[in-house]
Amino acid sequence: MALRRIASALVMRARLSNGDLAELLAQKAETSSGILVRAFRRAARSAFLWPELAADLIAAGRPLTELHGVGPFIAKQLQKWIENPPRDQTKPPSIRRDFLTRADARLILAAKPEWSKRLHGDLQMHTGWSDGSATIAEMAEAARERGYEYIGITDHSKGLKIAGGIDETALAEQAREIAIVNGKMAGSGLTVLRSIEMNLNPRGEGDMDPKSLARLDIVLGAFHSALRTKEDQTPRYLAALRNPAIQILGHPRGRIYNFRLGLKADWPRVFARAARLDKALEIDSYPDRQDLNLALLRIARKEGVRISLGTDAHHAHQLEFIELGLAAALKARIPSDRIVNFMDLARLRRWVRKLRERHR
Ligand SMILES: [Zn+2]
Repeated sequence: MALRRIASALVMRARLSNGDLAELLAQKAETSSGILVRAFRRAARSAFLWPELAADLIAAGRPLTELHGVGPFIAKQLQKWIENPPRDQTKPPSIRRDFLTRADARLILAAKPEWSKRLHGDLQMHTGWSDGSATIAEMAEAARERGYEYIGITDHSKGLKIAGGIDETALAEQAREIAIVNGKMAGSGLTVLRSIEMNLNPRGEGDMDPKSLARLDIVLGAFHSALRTKEDQTPRYLAALRNPAIQILGHPRGRIYNFRLGLKADWPRVFARAARLDKALEIDSYPDRQDLNLALLRIARKEGVRISLGTDAHHAHQLEFIELGLAAALKARIPSDRIVNFMDLARLRRWVRKLRERHR
């Protein structure tokens, strides 16, 4: 009996997390060739979405093919690793480091259920107006089901042609559609906010007429160019934060899992300036992004900057990615009064109004 307990304790210690499996899959991709490279890379990314631990499925005798993106071939490989964990697991390289899996996020959030209950809404998502797949009404319905008070529709602006960015005319047309959806949603407790993910150039300048932006409820700005430069980008961040049109800086580093490391800056200085200007930096909660990441969030907490949570959802079901942002903020111990989406709609509007008046 005692021996069995020791044996099971050893198994527990060696148990691989979904993050470990993701890393093993990513490493396997690097030593594979042909179609296997993509198969393993894709499976590595899927591992971040699994709501349960793969090791738990094995323990319960369930097939791993229940997990999103896992076919029989990948399942066999995963099972091998879970039953016989590799001895020397190497640490992920920086391009894959500091990403939470959904299973991690659920564990973190389960330890403090009152945290997630403070969330009033989601401030970054895309619709068919740019590169998203759902309509505004579909996003609103999914948000209502989640019990949100508000969502911000942040389709791309015209400068980002590759993502179907919209111009001032389209933005005005979108306003009419949002008004119709809000009319239908009346009494549901949900308000759809007019917003945008405005493309910022490396000088921190936007690509939209300020008059058109002033009609929006809230404005998110984000960089999409020169994201691979290795030089310090502090001036670009300071310029973006000074831009009077924006209140939130979206996916600040521009990193993407196993694809791009993101920009470098003097982060304490950037966050201190944001705090002084009372602007927010985002946790883009899209699994491949998770930007800001934990390491930077800890600096953000020290500097007292506001943090906004956005899923960057491109489909209605992706609103569930908010768990990753909520968990990262909780783990980094961001005070709840620093989280933009923990404000109710009236307070959110007051904050935006104050920023706009200050800049006038
Ligand atoms: Zn973006």
